[in-house]
Amino acid sequence: MSKNILILPGDGIGPEIVHEAVKVLVCLRDDFGLDIEMDEALVGGAAYDAAGHPLPQATLKLAHEADAVLLGAVGGPKWEPLDISVRPEKGLLGLRSELKLFANLRPAILYPQLAEASSLKAEVVSGLDIMIVRELTGGIYFGQPRGVRRLENGEREGFNTLVYRESEVERIVRVAMDIAMKRNRRVCSVDKANVLECTELWREVATRTGADYPEVELSHMYVDNAAMQLVRAPKQFDVMVTTNMFGDILSDCAAMLTGSIGMLPSASLDAAGKGMYEPIHGSAPDIAGKGVANPLATILSVAMLLRYSLDEPAMADRVERAVDNVLDSGIRTADIYSTGMEQVGTEMMGDAIVAALRKA
Ligand code: NAD
Repeated sequence: MSKNILILPGDGIGPEIVHEAVKVLVCLRDDFGLDIEMDEALVGGAAYDAAGHPLPQATLKLAHEADAVLLGAVGGPKWEPLDISVRPEKGLLGLRSELKLFANLRPAILYPQLAEASSLKAEVVSGLDIMIVRELTGGIYFGQPRGVRRLENGEREGFNTLVYRESEVERIVRVAMDIAMKRNRRVCSVDKANVLECTELWREVATRTGADYPEVELSHMYVDNAAMQLVRAPKQFDVMVTTNMFGDILSDCAAMLTGSIGMLPSASLDAAGKGMYEPIHGSAPDIAGKGVANPLATILSVAMLLRYSLDEPAMADRVERAVDNVLDSGIRTADIYSTGMEQVGTEMMGDAIVAALRKA
């Protein structure tokens, strides 16, 4: 039975990069027999402009019905003055929580062709391939109570709550373990167990859950050390698993090791493997509409979609091989350009990938 993919271009460069990713899906469908149907809907600022809400009911309904969602990016200065409840980012957070996408997978891979784009020495990062698994629907970003209250002396006090149930820890650690089984079988669980009771429990549950995976080597690291190790010797890591906030920070740090925000995809999965796939970068308002954005993070998000939600690993490999071959051939968008390479715009990069797909 054919699988349904919901396409959400969003704002800024979103529509430009998603257009190229859709070309890849169409090529896989028409030339290689990928059995898919695609719907398209509005999200973010574009949805607010058209329907008065960043996540209209019609979009949410289609997202529930789809097997997977491919999203560009949301947001931009135009919508910044809006009340926080209807800002574009609410559309994204709404999708994550409504679809119960608790597991955020963010690979940080350094393509050898782009080694000089990293801020670290080539020998420290060459061959880098880390998968960060971040818990996405719990922890301090969602914990209650939260807010700002006024004390008796008139001073205001802000507060948030870090809270994790055992079941929440166990399910995210299982995701990390399952992924590690398909990689180098090492998981590092990151916490702050020396200070926070909540993550002391996290460590205990991670250890208990890890015992079900005797082939995976489980280690634990405090988050401050993990941040340091990521820039000191990042290749020591295979899979990292951590809380919502720690993962937010560490995955951005890991992304920058690769030096190319336009290259990194992500997946957010529910318990049944349904997922939303998006580049890690934002809507890049500074270059929107100029036709220069790098579509590769979105195209690599398509590869993750094929692997994790459509169970099409061979198609995913084909897309990743095409990206590799295009980089080998010296074709670069402006963000990853270096002297001697051939600089192209968004559309030509998409065309190059489609041509490489047909050859790969
Ligand atoms: P950003 O990721 O949009 O841009 C940061 C820098 O990277 C910019 O100079 C941009 O031009 C460049 N860049 C980003 N993607 C690129 C690509 N594919 N090709 C080439 N260059 C690229 O981050 P920002 O400027 O902090 O945020 C802009 C808007 O995006 C804000 O409204 C923010 O809220 C939103 N945002 C959305 C998401 C999302 O939709 N998931 C994530 C982060 C930020």
